[in-house]
Amino acid sequence: MQSSIVYLDYNATTPVDDRVLERMLPFFKQQYANPSSPHLFALQAQEEIDFAQQDLAHLINCRASELTFTSGATEAINMAIKGLTYGHRKHIICASTEHNAVLECCRYMETKGYTVTYLPVDKDGIIDLKTLEDSITTDTALVCVMLVNNETGVMQDIPSIATLTHQAGAWFLCDATQAVGKIPIDVKQMQIDFMPISAHKFYGPKGIGALYTNPAIGSLEPLLHGGQQQKGMRSGTLNVPGIVGLGTAAAIAKQEMANQNKLILTLRDALEKSILEIDETFVNGHLDKRIFNTTNISLRGLHSQEMILALGNIAVSSGSACSSVTNRPSPVLRAMGLKNEDNLSAIRFSLGRFTTDHDIDYTLDRIKKIVTKLRG
Ligand SMILES: *Cc1c(COP(=O)(O)O)cnc(C)c1O
Repeated sequence: MQSSIVYLDYNATTPVDDRVLERMLPFFKQQYANPSSPHLFALQAQEEIDFAQQDLAHLINCRASELTFTSGATEAINMAIKGLTYGHRKHIICASTEHNAVLECCRYMETKGYTVTYLPVDKDGIIDLKTLEDSITTDTALVCVMLVNNETGVMQDIPSIATLTHQAGAWFLCDATQAVGKIPIDVKQMQIDFMPISAHKFYGPKGIGALYTNPAIGSLEPLLHGGQQQKGMRSGTLNVPGIVGLGTAAAIAKQEMANQNKLILTLRDALEKSILEIDETFVNGHLDKRIFNTTNISLRGLHSQEMILALGNIAVSSGSACSSVTNRPSPVLRAMGLKNEDNLSAIRFSLGRFTTDHDIDYTLDRIKKIVTKLRG
């Protein structure tokens, strides 16, 4: 890490772990073969792809054959939602707090004649199972609910949601992009049918990810047509360095997550507790049903955009989907019933593998000074 940056924006992306980069490097200049070619050189590349697929499969308890490599979670989500064979069922359900990748796919499906129900959440960001049950009809083909929310870290009761979905004969897509590599995931036990994965959210490179698909779904209509790579599910030359990076990141995560999570949780809680000592501050999202690395805090009367600017070399996010100049309220926080003023004062701190005690102390010191100055 650059020493001058205090990085607390791990939910946006993570730095590539040195061990991941190290494993990737030979695949640019030495082992650069196209794995689809017929020669021995290509076979070796294919072998590396297979190892990586195995490592990723181990992380989420599926078979390697159930994974399709994509450019990331956005593509995986598009592949699932647009590629599913809907038959006569024309209804989709998704949580109102989903990532834009899911929301925008659902809006697209509306333009194609599908009906979408956007499920409300309570003030803690949690979906009401009774509301979900009431929303599911015999026309429902797909239910999309994320495991961990990227803005608040709030976690949904995935096995119960999956059970309700399956009782109605619908498929269940779980956007677990903020969970894979952070917490243990078992797609079989959690009864997930589609699960997007993105390497850059857990110390792998950007531009590579995967879609887990339950084989019971059968084939999907591919987004990309071409050379029939990956059983025709996703044509295009495989991103060998990226895939090797993804596999390595998965293997490291499986090894290290249990120990790492405890350390990060301790730092997150220390940061949160101290910020909450400042007047008129509160956490957005359920305090317990929440991942260990994230805290989303509103500092009443302040503007997150102003705070972020003042924080300078400390990288955090506003709760909002901010464009470069204007600050728009976060749809996630709005769905949780936050008033606009509190919404616009929300800051997301997301910690990770390389966060230190010093990062937290430094950030707290700076925040306290900035709040005093801005409120004074
Ligand atoms: C980052 C993220 C995505 C998009 O992932 P990309 O690989 O960057 O396309 C989707 N869903 C969630 C919850 C995310 O955090």
